[in-house]
Amino acid sequence: MNKIYPEIKVAPPGPKGQAIIDLDKKYSSPSYIKEYPLVVESGEGPWITDVDGNRYLDFMAGIAVASTGHAHPKVVKAIQDAANKFLHICGTDFYYDSFSKICERLANLVPEMGPQKVFLSNSGTEAIEGALKLVRWHTKRQNVIAFKGAFHGRTYGAISLNSSKVAQRAHFGPLVPGIIHVPYPSEKGPGIADILEKDLFLSHVSPKEIAAIFIEPILGEGGYQLPPAQALRDLRRICDQHGIVLVFDEVQCGIGRTGRWFAAQHFNVMPDVICSAKGIASGMPLGAIIAKESIMSWTRGSHGSTYGGNPLCCAAALATLDVLEPMLPQIGEVGAYMLKGLGELQKKHAVIGDVRGVGLMIGVEFLNADGTPAAEYVGALEQLAFRKGLLLLSCGKSTVRIAPPLIIGRHEVDVGLGILDTCLTELDAQFGMKK
Ligand code: PLP
Repeated sequence: MNKIYPEIKVAPPGPKGQAIIDLDKKYSSPSYIKEYPLVVESGEGPWITDVDGNRYLDFMAGIAVASTGHAHPKVVKAIQDAANKFLHICGTDFYYDSFSKICERLANLVPEMGPQKVFLSNSGTEAIEGALKLVRWHTKRQNVIAFKGAFHGRTYGAISLNSSKVAQRAHFGPLVPGIIHVPYPSEKGPGIADILEKDLFLSHVSPKEIAAIFIEPILGEGGYQLPPAQALRDLRRICDQHGIVLVFDEVQCGIGRTGRWFAAQHFNVMPDVICSAKGIASGMPLGAIIAKESIMSWTRGSHGSTYGGNPLCCAAALATLDVLEPMLPQIGEVGAYMLKGLGELQKKHAVIGDVRGVGLMIGVEFLNADGTPAAEYVGALEQLAFRKGLLLLSCGKSTVRIAPPLIIGRHEVDVGLGILDTCLTELDAQFGMKK
């Protein structure tokens, strides 16, 4: 097979791209972020072509979504076949095969959780929103613990759980009450058991009034950080002790991104509820609340959705899982290769303060010589890499997330890291960073 490489023919944005950007600027909401002027024409596997004919290697997968790569033929075919049959009937009120089948499939991805049931939504934030309703309904308690640095989405329940960037919450209050934020577990700070059992539960709120703990088992937007496994084990113990529901937000880290279906399996800590979305349907809008059968106890009519589990999305999700299932070991292997390569770059470029991650969910943290976040450097890196044909996306204060489509191989890793190295060499000189 011919090896593909990025190719920049016209400095982006070219004339066609610029026309679209101008139109967009005139009519689309100013709340959109638009990281850099990428104007997509088409995609294939880990490659994106822009409207001016430039080809890029995608190391961000549309924020960790294009799990099977862009326009995977099996996923596209499944969507086309489904579209030829019917576009909508509403899974909340009626039945169809792909809806029931994807629920079955999702309920069996983590058998260690025991019998499970599934609610289908349109997005990650809706899965979170539904899970928030579910835990209050199930426990008849109102309070919820969430974590600093967390990102759970953009709807009211989700922004109330967020504590990642203040812009996501500013001027939107009053938010949902009853949410208490504690520090995200790390090797450095006090243990989560101490924070909860020696402080919060004594000074602030009784654990018997806590409905749930919502945690990203690997922090996504907050900086691609892994918690100590012990912290997750402590949370499991505390939840068991007090009848609190443990919810893992696996919207970003789930569906094979870490080389296992869910990050929970890496830590060997089983939550009561998993929220999923993003890579679940390769880019078609689908989210899921996957809950232990005993927890998903709400009754007929208590929750629903017009579009959630749309037949095209269910078909795409079934095909996505079919594509990814045999690839899980490869994702772990390619991820380890990527991690090793990034480790080599770290030795060469002192500005890389940390490289961490599992599978193809890897954070590269950039720090100034005095240990402060090198945010400006990361901003410049995103732009420069884009202009050299590599698509990156930052997270946290100064971390680049490496979250490519899960179908990449060693060739793409080598190409991507080569471009990264060139960019870092240029930027080290520009920012006066030591080697
Ligand atoms: N939860 C996590 C961990 C996420 O990373 C995101 C999106 O980035 C969400 C929830 C929200 O998902 P969506 O944008 O599909 O609503």
